[in-house]
Amino acid sequence: MDLNAKIYVAGHRGMVGSALVRRLRRAGYQNLVTRTTQELDLRNQAAVAEFFATEKPEYVLLAAAKVGGIHANNTYPADFLLDNLQIQNNVIQQSYLNGVTKLLFLGSSCIYPKMAPQPIKEEYLLTGALEPTNEAYALAKIAGLKLCEAYRRQHGANFISAMPTNLYGPGDNYNLQNSHVLPALLRKFHEAKLANAPSVEVWGSGTPRREFLHVDDLADACFHLLLAYNGAEPVNVGTGKDITIRELAELVKDVVGYTGDIQFNTSQPDGTPRKLLDVSKLAEAGWQYSIELRDGVEAVYKEAFSETPQSA
Ligand code: GDP
Repeated sequence: MDLNAKIYVAGHRGMVGSALVRRLRRAGYQNLVTRTTQELDLRNQAAVAEFFATEKPEYVLLAAAKVGGIHANNTYPADFLLDNLQIQNNVIQQSYLNGVTKLLFLGSSCIYPKMAPQPIKEEYLLTGALEPTNEAYALAKIAGLKLCEAYRRQHGANFISAMPTNLYGPGDNYNLQNSHVLPALLRKFHEAKLANAPSVEVWGSGTPRREFLHVDDLADACFHLLLAYNGAEPVNVGTGKDITIRELAELVKDVVGYTGDIQFNTSQPDGTPRKLLDVSKLAEAGWQYSIELRDGVEAVYKEAFSETPQSA
């Protein structure tokens, strides 16, 4: 890929998009095109068509999406389904119509069946029912990766898809109602430490298992796929390792230096029991993660709360 290649990063203000921009800049790419949501509403078909006709990007990284944690997904399913379908339909269609050389679509590990065998291989897609708490988001993402596959099959377009596991990193969402578990726990333990609160509430039973990947690792993997992968099948992106929510809570508690108790609120949903990705396809493509969870959580805690993490 020529260092002058014109690359459109859709969603560059988000956690994933901003990490992609950092990774591309670090590699020397300067001809990056970005638009804020105020400048370009990706749900608006006419606006997206005009943008592509004017800018004519050569590469497109589609990291724009409406995202949120278990509570937000469960509460606003219509928004999660429709906004994401509109965003991806417009960007993928215009990429094809304007002759984009290569497009990378970002999916999510929640696209896989709730009861998929673990670790989850790419081929388990559409073999069973989805987790109800994030079905709307998952359906949109499945439609997106299938649209990429369809453009490849019907028109030979080089549109690829990456399926990241649960992500965390700089620029994460710390709103307790709609964030994901890792930023939510960092904030809860941090505030409990400052307030000398006797305990912290963790949702669910603590038994679900989740895999976490630092977004800089994801951006590095996407960059690698952009350069080295041209296959029709989506590629899982993760560490290949998972921990229970209880273990995650203990780790965050430790990093923050909170000394009180952890209380599990089982009136909140657990969501899917486990979603560990099989990352052998990514390994075959020549990539593996480098940021260990504890190191990543320490870095994020420092960055988001200007605090020095407690050492183990
Ligand atoms: P999911 O991976 O799509 O289920 O999304 P989340 O990251 O929101 O939740 C992962 C797991 O962490 C679920 O079992 C949640 O119930 C649990 N969890 C525990 N405490 C929290 C919290 O404070 N916020 C969130 N979002 N999840 C929590």
